[in-house]
Amino acid sequence: MQSLSATMQPNSSNLVAGVDLGGTAVNYTFFDGSRFLIEGLCEHPSLATQGPAVCLQQMADGLQMAAERHAVPLKEIGVIGLGTPGPASASGVLSATGSTNFVHPAWSGFDIRGALEEKLGLPAVYINDGNAGALWGHYVLFGAHNQATSISAIIGTGLGGGVIIENRVLKGCHGFGGELGHVLLPYQHIPGLENARPLCNCGRVGDLESVCSLTALEKSLLPAYLPRYPDHELAKLGDLRKAARLVRGLAEKGDPLARQLFAAQAHSLALFFDQMVSTFDPNALIVGGGAIETGAEFQQWFLSQIREAMPVQWKETGEIPIHIMPNGDTAGARGAALEAYKSLPRP
Ligand SMILES: [Zn+2]
Repeated sequence: MQSLSATMQPNSSNLVAGVDLGGTAVNYTFFDGSRFLIEGLCEHPSLATQGPAVCLQQMADGLQMAAERHAVPLKEIGVIGLGTPGPASASGVLSATGSTNFVHPAWSGFDIRGALEEKLGLPAVYINDGNAGALWGHYVLFGAHNQATSISAIIGTGLGGGVIIENRVLKGCHGFGGELGHVLLPYQHIPGLENARPLCNCGRVGDLESVCSLTALEKSLLPAYLPRYPDHELAKLGDLRKAARLVRGLAEKGDPLARQLFAAQAHSLALFFDQMVSTFDPNALIVGGGAIETGAEFQQWFLSQIREAMPVQWKETGEIPIHIMPNGDTAGARGAALEAYKSLPRP
């Protein structure tokens, strides 16, 4: 849990807001300690590519609109929970080396939590969006008070997620705890990738993100599997970036190549989860993200592929349950709100 800044203390309200800033949209929610005041998705364009000044104004305008639309008095909000893609420090200073979602040069080394706090005149706490999703998934499975451990993997453009222990996000010493996408895997065990060299944006070869993400489909998986299907519509497209974005839809329809690409991603998750089982002995494993924002049939098929590829577990642990992230598209905002709620002073 983050401590709130000394200069800005929350009011006595139990009401918090969750703000999930993505590359294209900002998502909002409100939480009063027992329920979320927004049922579905509530979003506003983020304009993150135009830099901090424009984007912060968008975040403030969107919050105002969300509050008006759902009859939430803004002045009663105690704390804002802000989630964004990393890399960033535990207190919300974006990485100076830049990130996929914050390409404008003014974002480099930018204290986004501090700037939002100043803009809104409300205390804000920071959480990376993968951790926020993981916190939400954990809360749905285990409730507000528990002694459980869960590991979430969220498959998007990259691979995010988090380790949650007793409702606390494992952030680590530098804020890099739970950077699950960059854990190295024995990827050569995945049929079809024996001779591949999947390179991640972080420079590692063969980490989880390099074989299990939208970027991996474009950079590693399509180049490895597509040559076996020379007559496939994706081969004829001649554009791997476009092709990668069509794979999920084709997989849902049962296309053999697309299913093979998802089976490879499921296999990589199985290898990854196996490491997590031996490290944390968790109560649950959770899979989320755009890759599986699909129908239930495909989600269940994907989970079965992970289970089949998992090495035999310890006799004592039995088979660890694997879940689909609930309310996937609102998970980031809801997790950010939960983090904000935890930071409210308790009487
Ligand atoms: Zn990496």
